[in-house]
Amino acid sequence: MAQDKVTSEWGELLFTDADMRERLPKPTYKELRRVIDQGMPLDIHIANEVAHAMKEWALEHGATHFTHWFQPLSGITSEKHDSFLTLQDDGSILMAFSGKELVQGEPDASSFPNGGLRATFEARGYTVWDPTSPAFVKDEVLCIPTAFISYTGEALDKRTPLLRSEIALERQAKRLLALFGRSPRRVVTTIGPEQEYFLIKEEDYERRQDLILTGRTLFGAMPAKGQELEEHYFGAIRPTVSAFMKELDDELWKLGVPVKTKHNEVAPCQHELAPIFERGSLAIDDNLLTMEKMKLIAPKYGLACLQHEKPFEYVNGSGKHNNWSISADGKNLLEPGPHPEDNLQFLVLLACLVAAVDEHADLMRASVASAGNDHRLGANEAPPAVVSVFLGDALTPVVDALIRKEQAEVHEDEVVDLGVPQLPPVLRDNTDRNRTSPFAFTGNKFEFRMCGSQQNLSDPNVVLNTAVAEQCERFCDYVAARQDEEFLTVAMRFVRHTLRDHRRVIFDGNGYSSEWEDEAERRGLPNHKTCADALPALIDPKSVALFEKYEVLSEAEIHARYAAKAEQYAKLLNIEANVMVHMARRQYLPAIMGFSDSVVQIVLNRKAVGIEAKTEEELARKLADGIASISELTGRLEDKNAKAASIEDLGKRDEYYRDEVLPTMEALRASVDAMESICAKECWPVPSYNDMLFYV
Ligand code: ADP
Ligand code: MG
Repeated sequence: MAQDKVTSEWGELLFTDADMRERLPKPTYKELRRVIDQGMPLDIHIANEVAHAMKEWALEHGATHFTHWFQPLSGITSEKHDSFLTLQDDGSILMAFSGKELVQGEPDASSFPNGGLRATFEARGYTVWDPTSPAFVKDEVLCIPTAFISYTGEALDKRTPLLRSEIALERQAKRLLALFGRSPRRVVTTIGPEQEYFLIKEEDYERRQDLILTGRTLFGAMPAKGQELEEHYFGAIRPTVSAFMKELDDELWKLGVPVKTKHNEVAPCQHELAPIFERGSLAIDDNLLTMEKMKLIAPKYGLACLQHEKPFEYVNGSGKHNNWSISADGKNLLEPGPHPEDNLQFLVLLACLVAAVDEHADLMRASVASAGNDHRLGANEAPPAVVSVFLGDALTPVVDALIRKEQAEVHEDEVVDLGVPQLPPVLRDNTDRNRTSPFAFTGNKFEFRMCGSQQNLSDPNVVLNTAVAEQCERFCDYVAARQDEEFLTVAMRFVRHTLRDHRRVIFDGNGYSSEWEDEAERRGLPNHKTCADALPALIDPKSVALFEKYEVLSEAEIHARYAAKAEQYAKLLNIEANVMVHMARRQYLPAIMGFSDSVVQIVLNRKAVGIEAKTEEELARKLADGIASISELTGRLEDKNAKAASIEDLGKRDEYYRDEVLPTMEALRASVDAMESICAKECWPVPSYNDMLFYV
């Protein structure tokens, strides 16, 4: 039977369950499934057989090397390639791959960030195969998803705590479901990450040192046009971009990444890609692969893919919406059904979620904190820095009625009257689409919108999973302590009390308004505006207790993560400041001086023949003032940056960057940008915002 292109290429480079079933002896396959599905320990004989089958499959798909693919604390993925090649005694070669090589690796890992967990004398780290994530072939390399741990067993990566948090949530959710008489085999989280990104011309990118070294423009005057006409969102996709997107789809489909939706976003040159949701850790692997492919494919079309949260001032930045739900044997547990007010299991889970977000709002905020995301959160485009929950027209009245112990007014699906009989009837969605909320219920899932576009989604999901596990356990304990009462009454009371106690975190209004900030303060909700403010929540005793209780992160691990993030923030700002100093001294100042010289020459020439040169003189003066100001600010930035780097205490260093270095960077930028708008275009040393954002 003829197959369409997508069906025939789908998952071609992914070592799928079907491949394993086909290639492994039946008992081995069964044993492996037990490891994957039930978390049974892996036997080395099984590993040997899987390794052999995997290698044979990989060789058939063009692989020559293998790698343990892992996610270090820096968030991106790492790989070191080893070929399958082995030399025989007679000089001939053999392509070999053992179970031991599959299961464990020892990358020379001393230069990965570890937050102080590994002293250099025990710099060893191990990668360990995660059989729950399928291997794949990428660029002639068999990639084996692995966890990365230290010699002493501490997690040094993003995957390990994620898997642990998934286990914690599964355990508690199963206990909760058991009270409702359900005993699913598996309870997993599902994640659908919507990835935003920019594409600009590679030739422009190459001329901007700031973009190359920091991912964002550190200078650039406001373009004559921004996103105010709103014509880019969902607009027709330009041909080069469309060609890029097609190849991206093809490549990702081959890897079994279920990408589904693509469109232009609000800002010029901004786009979005959304996959169909998958099991949590798998969705995150696939998102990382997607980001990597985007970067690699763009140059083939003369484009550069920018994944920074704020590549350009004055237009929207990029986020990554983390659509999240829990699923029991394939059944979505956040599906409210037509009558949520009567769906007790749903209400219990809803109450658990609301409580989880309220109790750990600071941790949720910290989980998305980064230097890049600071430019988005609270900047009138992304959700504000206050974490709140949006429930919408269908659920908020139910919640309020429950709290008041009244019968909720039932919200029926409404049919929208279009007044055009030829068009099919439209059912109004039972949630409106509030875009300003950081954590919104969108029909049958929650959407956490604070995540940054370049971040690894593990961090926010670790927090979410663990915080929800804690609330599920609270419910189970609550019921257990009231065994002599009827379950339904007890469960209902739990829902009512929990929602009442956490009502403050529910907010359906406009999250961008300044009134909300004041209101949030009155409600006692944390508002951590910057990364430096947000990160300390990670090591708050309350957070440490949460992670320790559910064995997601030990105290040492969580401190290491805090240290790695706090350091990352300082390092990024240090690089940004350095790049600014460089660009100011070596590109902008010489260019402005050159232009100013030509203006002064005009003034002199005119005066020499007795012509007035008032305008030119004025311009020459402005340029001279600009040069003086840029020189002064560059020196000041250099000094402050040096001072910052010398501060030992991580928290204090971050605060110094926030309070002293960043404002100086902004002042320097303002001085340079002011010159951009009065200098001749030909003399400007880098492409302007207009050039980059409105290319044809
Ligand atoms: P938006 O309107 O926010 O752009 P989309 O409908 O384009 O939303 O994307 C929603 C994302 O949510 C998709 O990636 C989709 O697969 C995902 N999603 C849908 N249902 C679930 C679920 N139950 N769990 C997790 N993600 C889901
Ligand atoms: Mg969304």
